[in-house]
Amino acid sequence: MKHFIIFGPPGAGKGTQAKLMVEKYNLRHISTGDLLRAEIKAGTKLGQMAKALIDDGNFVPDEMVLKLVKSEIAHHPDASGFVFDGFPRTTTQASAFESYLKSLGMDVNGVISIIISDETVMERIHHRALIEDRKDDMKDEIIRNRITTYHAKTEPLIDYYKKQEKYHEIDGEGTIEDIFAKISLLIERLSR
Ligand code: AMP
Repeated sequence: MKHFIIFGPPGAGKGTQAKLMVEKYNLRHISTGDLLRAEIKAGTKLGQMAKALIDDGNFVPDEMVLKLVKSEIAHHPDASGFVFDGFPRTTTQASAFESYLKSLGMDVNGVISIIISDETVMERIHHRALIEDRKDDMKDEIIRNRITTYHAKTEPLIDYYKKQEKYHEIDGEGTIEDIFAKISLLIERLSR
């Protein structure tokens, strides 16, 4: 199994690129944001606990996302690999994830980091707000909170994965196709 993490700030295009990776490389997409939104839609207890946090642009507790991710992996034993989108987002999540994969005899193969500026994040999220109905995309104050949280809590993962020599950057300012071409080259190099 191959495990890739698609990494970057909110609005970087992680979901879009993850979907293309799934199609081309026969991977399964695990987006913790999508899983949480599905829990909210289904009205589960977990969804009810997560809703206010997500709407305000705050992280949900680490244990909550870890539970969702482990369950997804366990339910797809036949998958040829996964692309993790929006996870891990904290060093606690990353180390718990690493231990879990290790217990299954697996490892993260590569972290693909999409680099875009905070201004582009704002523009992309404003654009997405016109297409998708996400409360956390509607208010600038909440978008700014998510960007600040990304810098404070998620960026430390860059060093975490650099130390493991798994971290790779892609310039995220081009077109969807340009960015995917660069990601494809990287995946093919990492899969050799
Ligand atoms: P996303 O769709 O990845 O932008 O995620 C939407 C929201 O879900 C985030 O702003 C967080 O509130 C929550 N969320 C998603 N993934 C995680 C995670 N790995 N850790 C904590 N909260 C998360």
